[in-house]
This record gives sequence, structure tokens and C-alpha cells, in this order.
Amino acid sequence: MRKEMIDQLDQEFDIIIVGGGITGAGAARDAACRGLKVALIEMEDLAFGTSSRSSKLAHGGLRYLENLEFSLVFEAVSERKVLMEIAPHLVLPLGFLFPVYSSSRRSVFTVSLGMWVYDALSLFRSPKLHRKLSRSDVAKEEPFLKREGLKGAPLYYDCSTDDARLTLETAIDAAKNGAVVATYVKVQQFLYDDKGTICGVQAFDRISEKSINIRSKVVINATGPWSDRTRNLSSKPQSKEINSLRPTKGVHIVVNADRLKTEHAVVCFHPEDGRVLFAIPWGDQTYIGTTDTDYTEDPSDVAATKEDVVYLLEASNHYFPESKLTQEDVLSTWAGIRPLVAEETEGGEASESSVSREHSIRRDPDGLISIAGGKLTTYRRMGAEVVEHAIQVLEQQGISSTRRSDTDKRALPGAQNWPKSDSLEESLQALVKETKKRAGQSLSHQSAEKLVEIYGTRALEISDSIAQDPSLAEPLNPHRSEVLAQVDFSVSQELASSVRDVLIRRTQIFFRASDQGLGCCGTVARRMGKLLSWSEERIDLEIQAYTEEVDRSRRWRL
Ligand code: FAD
Repeated sequence: MRKEMIDQLDQEFDIIIVGGGITGAGAARDAACRGLKVALIEMEDLAFGTSSRSSKLAHGGLRYLENLEFSLVFEAVSERKVLMEIAPHLVLPLGFLFPVYSSSRRSVFTVSLGMWVYDALSLFRSPKLHRKLSRSDVAKEEPFLKREGLKGAPLYYDCSTDDARLTLETAIDAAKNGAVVATYVKVQQFLYDDKGTICGVQAFDRISEKSINIRSKVVINATGPWSDRTRNLSSKPQSKEINSLRPTKGVHIVVNADRLKTEHAVVCFHPEDGRVLFAIPWGDQTYIGTTDTDYTEDPSDVAATKEDVVYLLEASNHYFPESKLTQEDVLSTWAGIRPLVAEETEGGEASESSVSREHSIRRDPDGLISIAGGKLTTYRRMGAEVVEHAIQVLEQQGISSTRRSDTDKRALPGAQNWPKSDSLEESLQALVKETKKRAGQSLSHQSAEKLVEIYGTRALEISDSIAQDPSLAEPLNPHRSEVLAQVDFSVSQELASSVRDVLIRRTQIFFRASDQGLGCCGTVARRMGKLLSWSEERIDLEIQAYTEEVDRSRRWRL
């Protein structure tokens, strides 16, 4: 699939989008659905950057109400609703419990009032409306939560998601609508016309190790935390180096649910600095995050440090004292960079948490359009907005797209042909049943559930492949439910080009398996080797690269 994409880069596009995170994927889908010729160029795998390292929430951001960012919250809760409709398999309702203690800065009344506003901004179409839990209700619903000093806990609803998969399905849908999606292609420079305006990119295919010139009428920079670096690739001397972002690092840690189990996402404030943190249920695991510290190094190298892990464990043990989590309990970690747009306050620089999460779109004198900031939740609107900027430029060149953005009406691939039912649970059960039926005896019920959880209706394509070759139902790890067929699907349908792509972003085994996938990375490498005609040397290199990635995520232990 990747090779077919690379072969198609030899044409002139209307728009090249640099960066295959959620912002770039959203813009590519929007442009393709309007009938524009678009190429999405990503230097690593889709969602390699921040878009696989978020808190995995499609949310309005209750806490932004404190900064009176009503329009941001309104936009985000409206988008949350759209995402629940176009990706019901990926954007799932989740209850958020907000415990209030006698030492809390906010009273139960104030928090409840905030939740009224939050529900009102969603026009009372939240997954469920908020309610107040008394001290004794909390003891029943969240038995491990600290009870000392607890006054009550309002409960509100937002959504959880799989950030990497949301990005992936968005990019795949862009490709289905005609976009060329090229991964492992790094943009190194821009191409200029005789007026000095950008008319394409010079890129490097990191797999074939060849340079490619790709021509286009407009280039959009959607490289998130790399945004300034991309703008600084411009050969036009700027008066000074562009430095428009204020990047901050956010770390999450993952523990097994048998060590810390929560029924809801629990919102807590760090006992030392009062920063907001979440403990979020994640199937057999729970993740806790996030930190928020300034970060100025290379975004590709970001990783959790020991201080980050200690900080998160401290908060967790404060609110869940009986679980007594230690560093030994940490199964995995991830760290991401918020591409926040820098802003100055009268008294100097804004503190990290008060920097606006809203996005900015800028056009440089050489024509480069850059979009940065924003949230995973609002990606679809951001995509539409930046494409409208590009269309204005295209119109000056005589190219018009009369089609309006309709990405809010089109289901993402895993939601197409969604079983009609009034209840999400019933639809999911119907899909599990059909997946199991089509695959036959070789596929376990747990694996069928897992396939539906990950792929939605596309699970049926995987079960059909298992029906043809029952050996594909073999679990990748004897203690888990992911199966070999997922490796084939990742390669043939989801642009996976390395073992890391499959185990980190296509299946999440990296974060969830007790060995972080080290036990099955050889099987995956050999299977991919067979599908992609890799040499023995390449297979060994892939295993080595995966092992190094696991080591990097565990570096904080040293
Ligand atoms: P990225 O995902 O970083 O994508 C940029 C891409 O550009 C990368 O894949 C990179 O490889 C590529 N690239 C860079 N340079 C080049 C080049 N030269 N050539 C080709 N490709 C290049 N938002 C929410 O809505 N909900 C949340 O729960 C949430 N939690 C968050 C938690 C944390 C810790 C963080 C850090 C962010 C969170 N966010 C959340 C915000 C959200 O994740 C980001 O706004 C979003 O993922 C940014 O996506 P992006 O596409 O702009 O950037």
C-alpha cells in the first residue's frame, strides 16, 4: 500500500500537507472530500507525534471554563458530538468524577455550577447530564478513592478515544477520497517558483533512501511541535528565527487495573502544585496523567523522566492510598509535546497551563500556511479552516473548489455500515457476533471483541481473512487477544511499515502488554518480512529498533 502511495507522488498537487498527525490528517481528509488533489507527507508513521501521546479524550475541557474560554469549550463539545456520530467505535462516553475535599479550592457547589455551564454549552447533548454523588455514593462507585475529608463528587460525562487510531482512520479516509498519504517521507526543504513563492517540497523517502521533489500550488505546515522547525526550513532569510510555539511536555504512566482500578475517569489536583490530573480506566489498565513542563529539545526524543513518574505516582497515592503504587507497578509510559501557541501576558510569559489551547493559522511571506495549537477534539474544524485558507490561495491561481466541507456527515471507515440500533452497546454486540460468525471457530470471543473495539465495522474484513486462513487467528501473545491477522491488516490496509507501527500505534500492545510486546516483536517482524519481502537483515533491524523503542520508554528507570 505504501509503495502505491509513493509512486503517486509524481504529479502536481493542489495542496501538500506536511505532518501526518491529527491536524494534517484532518486537513487532508477535508481537502480530499472537497475534490482537491492533496498529498499528506509524514516523516515517520501516522500519529507518530503528539497525536498518539495525548490523554486520549474527546472532551470540551471543563477546566478551560476557569479561564472563561467559553468559545473554545463550545467548539470542543460540539465537535465531541460530531465525533461520536462519525466514529462511534472510537469516541465512547466516559464518566468523569470530580471529588471535592474539605481542602479543595472549589466547593461542591462551584464545581456543580461549572458542570451546569458545561452541559449548557453542549446544548444539553452531553453523553449524559452531570449529577452529584454524595460521600456514600462515591464510596460505592469508587471504593479505592480517598474518603478522608471528602465532601462529595459531581460526575460529568465526556468521551474517551484512541488518538492514534482516530488519526489513522482520518488519514485512511482521506486516501479513500483520493489523497496520497506518504509515510516515512521527510520534508527537507521547500521548492520555490521564480517569484520566490513556495511551489512544493523536496523530501526524502526514508525507506528507499531517495530524494523526491513533490510539486503543489499550496503547502500547509501541520507539523505540530515541529511547526517552527518546518517554518525555519524556508530558504528565505527571515529577520530572526521563528519561535512561535511554547511547547510543553505531558507524561502519562500506565498501570494494571488490578493495582489501581477506577470505574470512572477521576479528576484530581496534584497535592503539591494543584495541577489537574486524571486517572483514566483503560480496559485491563489504568493510565494517569499528565505532567505539564516546558520542553525545548527535539520533539522526536521526548520521553518520561524519573521525576515525571514520581510526580504522577505521588498524586495517585494521595488519592488512592490503598493501592500504594510504586515504580515497579508502572507498565509503560508515554510522553507528548503540546504544540501550544506562545502568548505574552502583561506581566511577562504566561504560565504553562494558562497558555491557550486554541489554534493559530499563519501565512508566511513565502506562501507557507502553518497551523498549530488546538486539540485532538477540534481537529476536524481546524482541518476545514486551514483548507479554506488554502482555497483562497488556489482561487488566486484560478483553481476553485465549490464543494463545502462535509466531513461532519461522513462516517470514518470503522463506522461505515454501522449496525442500526438505538444503543451503542447493542451495535457493538451485533458486530462482535457477526465477526465471530464470519471468522469461525478459530477466533475466540475475546479476540472478536478486541477486533470490534479497535476496528469497528472493519473487524469484519479481518474476520473474512481469518475465515480464509484460520492460522491468522493465532494470538500474538498467549495472554492477550490480538491476533496475527491484525499484522496483515496493518500492512495491507493501514500503511504500517515497521514493527513499531504495528505494536505501538495499530494495536497498543507496546503500552498494554506486561512485556511491552518484546515477546511477540519477532513474530510480527517475520510476518511483516514475508508480506513486504524484507531481508533477514531488515527483520533483525526491525526487532532491534523495536527493542530500542521499549528501552527508550523505560529510560526513566535508570
Ligand atoms: P502531531 O501529532 O505532533 O503531528 C505532527 C507530525 O508532523 C508528526 O507526526 C511529525 O512526525 C510530522 N513531521 C514533523 N516534521 C516533519 C517533516 N519535516 N516532514 C514530514 N513530517 C514531519 N487534545 C485533546 O483533544 N484531548 C486530549 O485528551 C488531549 N490530551 C493531550 C495530552 C498531552 C500530554 C498532549 C501533549 C496533548 C494533548 N492534547 C489533547 C492535544 C492534542 O493531542 C494535540 O493538539 C494534537 O495531537 C496535535 O496534533 P498535530 O497533528 O498538530 O501534531
